[in-house]
Amino acid sequence: MPQRPYIVGNWKMNGTRAMLSEARAIDRAAQRHMKVEVAVAPPYTLLHAVHREAAQIAVGAQDCHPGEEGAHTGDISATMLADAGAKFVILGHSERRMGHGESNELVRTKAEAALDAGMRVIMCCGETEETRNSGKATGFVLDQLRASLPEQVENPLESIAIAYEPVWAIGTGKAATVQDIGEMHGAIRTLLIDLYGEEQGIEIRILYGGSVNPENARELLGADEVGGALIGGASLTADSFMGIALAAGEIEDN
Ligand code: PEP
Repeated sequence: MPQRPYIVGNWKMNGTRAMLSEARAIDRAAQRHMKVEVAVAPPYTLLHAVHREAAQIAVGAQDCHPGEEGAHTGDISATMLADAGAKFVILGHSERRMGHGESNELVRTKAEAALDAGMRVIMCCGETEETRNSGKATGFVLDQLRASLPEQVENPLESIAIAYEPVWAIGTGKAATVQDIGEMHGAIRTLLIDLYGEEQGIEIRILYGGSVNPENARELLGADEVGGALIGGASLTADSFMGIALAAGEIEDN
């Protein structure tokens, strides 16, 4: 059975308790759009509060430490996130790979920890503009994913989602084209089938991320093999975020 479109907001380092009203509005709207699976990853400081307020949306984190506990000042383990109500964790975002020097191997150990803690992993991948211009984007993204994804995954269909986010499209207002998205998602699909088998690999959702907004959502989400979107800037208000969710629901109607 095809999965519902998965629309995930990444609030990044944005939001104080004043943002809880947006989370409530997102949750209320999500209750009216049940054909779409809506989720939000607020900063750690709001995770538990959003979780407590949410009746419909899932709440997740934007990173985790690979260890379970111990002397890691400033870090948060997957077990602690799950305890605070997190149902998923975004891993391997380019802002962590580039801003914090995270290797594929580190990202993979984080993913293993998150899965062990019972959370879904949204695994990010994506090429820089330089790599795209050199014609090597597909090879780069597939190598990145192969090295970042855990091999042994129980029920990958439920516990893994992929987010293809070209680095040059994040926060720039310059989204990838429908053709580029379709080609990259098709290549990622082949990899997922190879890694996790035909039955589950064919259904794992591949999200697109990078300058998605309510105006372009219908076109971008209509690209081949797109199972939803990971949204940064446009997820910070309920109006724009749920505008994207609405567009996703309409595509499903067609
Ligand atoms: C992101 O950083 O995950 C993202 C997709 O950002 P934006 O929507 O702002 O481009």
